[in-house]
Amino acid sequence: MEYAIIVCGGSGTRMGSLPVSKTLLPVGGVPSAVRCALAFRNAGCRLILVTPPGGEKPFEEALKNYGIEALLVPGGGERSESVKNGLARVEEDDALVLVHDGARPLVSSELIRRCVSCAREHHGAVPALKVADTLKKAGPDGRVTATVDRADMYRVQTPQCFYARDLRKAYALGGKGCTDEASLMENAGFPVTLCPGDTANIKLTTPEDLAMADRLLRRVTRTGFGLDAHRLTEGRRLVLCGVEIPYEKGLLGHSDADAALHALTDALLGAAALGDIGQMFPDTDEKYAGISSLLLLKQAAERVRAAGFEIVNCDVTIVCQRPKLAPFIPEMRIRVAGCLGIEVSRVSVKATTTELMGYEGRGEGISAHAAATLEECLI
Ligand code: MG
Repeated sequence: MEYAIIVCGGSGTRMGSLPVSKTLLPVGGVPSAVRCALAFRNAGCRLILVTPPGGEKPFEEALKNYGIEALLVPGGGERSESVKNGLARVEEDDALVLVHDGARPLVSSELIRRCVSCAREHHGAVPALKVADTLKKAGPDGRVTATVDRADMYRVQTPQCFYARDLRKAYALGGKGCTDEASLMENAGFPVTLCPGDTANIKLTTPEDLAMADRLLRRVTRTGFGLDAHRLTEGRRLVLCGVEIPYEKGLLGHSDADAALHALTDALLGAAALGDIGQMFPDTDEKYAGISSLLLLKQAAERVRAAGFEIVNCDVTIVCQRPKLAPFIPEMRIRVAGCLGIEVSRVSVKATTTELMGYEGRGEGISAHAAATLEECLI
């Protein structure tokens, strides 16, 4: 079992005068401390949230709003005292403890897992990034006095991960003035190993950082729509959303003529503005003759992902008078989800009749409409 101690002190003097802790400031609409708690909860950690002394109430409410269970512990005047208070609530001595800054809201579950596995191997892990900028030393007047060799220089982040028993020993030797657990452990003679950090895991210090965190979180949502229809004819198989349906007629077309998947393929391509199914798979090309439209959909999904999009969900409506499609819908959703590589809960397939009106109503053909949502991640 791993414990996360999320330290939420900090009056945030460089953030301007704030009535609350800066860890309660919303980032992408969610308080920083809550974002941290969600990431550690998703990584399977038990949560201990250290609040500013006497300031538990707003944290209790914020966590409750998001259904997060955490032990709230009042902190001390100094960071080291706050961590010590949290550490006192860790029950097992041989548990790994991840100490995290509540003002680093973009910590990912992936980074947390990386720190844990590195800590298991090296008895402790601290995420860090190599310094890329040239480093200068300068006096108060801004005059450069030296250029510092950056070859072995790292910027250190949190969560910093150590065994509870080692942290307790190090704190018993005194942690005053230590700005992070790594320095405390170094002072106490424990080995400290760096693991790769995450550039998005920024610390909220100034109002500019808050704007930067918002920008990093911003995702662009795009919607696409597709429509297709094929003629019903004898001597053909009826395939809809990749499922063969027993019926006296089937859809006529160059491929398997799965109108539902053609509409969905167009919706995906449309959301990404990547043209349409006819351009991608010309029906004059012999290699697509009789091909399963699941293969076409899969290739379109790959192209959409390669263009930097994530498939969020899709919704297909098949317009068909006969046969009755309801019994086949669960299997259709599974086929489509498997083909797109998304959860079944993100795939909707519906069927409707037109009450005998139009070509679908007269049984001359089947049409399908589809919508798809994509997200473009900016980090
Ligand atoms: Mg078609």
